[in-house]
Amino acid sequence: MIEDMDSPAAAAHVRFVPPRQAEQAAARRRRTGGETRLATTRRARRIQRELARSYPYAVAELDFDDAWQLLVATVLSAQTTDVRVNSVTPGLFAAYPGPWELAEAPAEDVEERVRSLGFYRSKARSIQGLATRIVDEYDGRVPGTLAELVTLPGVGRKTANVVLGNAFGVPGITVDTHFGRLARRFGWTDQEDPVKVETDVAALFPPAVWTELSHELIYHGRRMCHARKPACGVCPVADLCPSYGTGPTDPLAARKLLAYELAPGREELLAGFLAGRTRRELRADGHTLGA
Ligand code: SF4
Repeated sequence: MIEDMDSPAAAAHVRFVPPRQAEQAAARRRRTGGETRLATTRRARRIQRELARSYPYAVAELDFDDAWQLLVATVLSAQTTDVRVNSVTPGLFAAYPGPWELAEAPAEDVEERVRSLGFYRSKARSIQGLATRIVDEYDGRVPGTLAELVTLPGVGRKTANVVLGNAFGVPGITVDTHFGRLARRFGWTDQEDPVKVETDVAALFPPAVWTELSHELIYHGRRMCHARKPACGVCPVADLCPSYGTGPTDPLAARKLLAYELAPGREELLAGFLAGRTRRELRADGHTLGA
């Protein structure tokens, strides 16, 4: 609980670690030096459990109804935000519901529909190329294996894992910029290369939690553990994180850094998520889901 805040807690469901406790844990870790493999695994799993408690509503933030829509949305999300992608995909899928329609669509119209995402010519080319391959080689159905997915135009390992984990229920670790940064801050890896990060993290967790873990780290990275100024002072894993102190440790200063539904003043949105309402329902109620 964030007990000493000036308003009803922005994140009352989030475990609040008093700064003294977090500092003592950080000092103990510095004193004892390196961790055993077993200790790292235990700490990693505790972090995951705490993040699961903090973000019980964590799911893919791209809106989709099926594997095809998720594949297209993920390809479109390169170099832009999920919120922006969610603003263009309803129109795109209404005009071209499946791969057959998109493959046949006039290129200029597809470009126009994705223009606001940036790199719109190459993104339009990618998704039409994707549609053509899926029609020609897979009879219009998105293939369900990593080996097949990564051969599709514009689809790398990250996109393939997103689709496998969220549309096919195949466990996958999605190493985007947030996941990589947090895995390094937690001391789970010292690698920069996403495939090596994936391998290191996969060794710490059973496959059953890989997809969920990906959402939890990405949520935490977007809302609290920012690249420049992480909100360490209100972080639910402050006493488990070797990087505690990278950002402000004062709870009041840290709270101002929270984003999305945890940002001060957005308690209603947070309550909606905690009550199990979907992003589409919350958007229909007038909530803005961006930071
Ligand atoms: S760096 Fe700070 S905000 Fe990020 S996980 Fe560690 S304690 Fe939390």
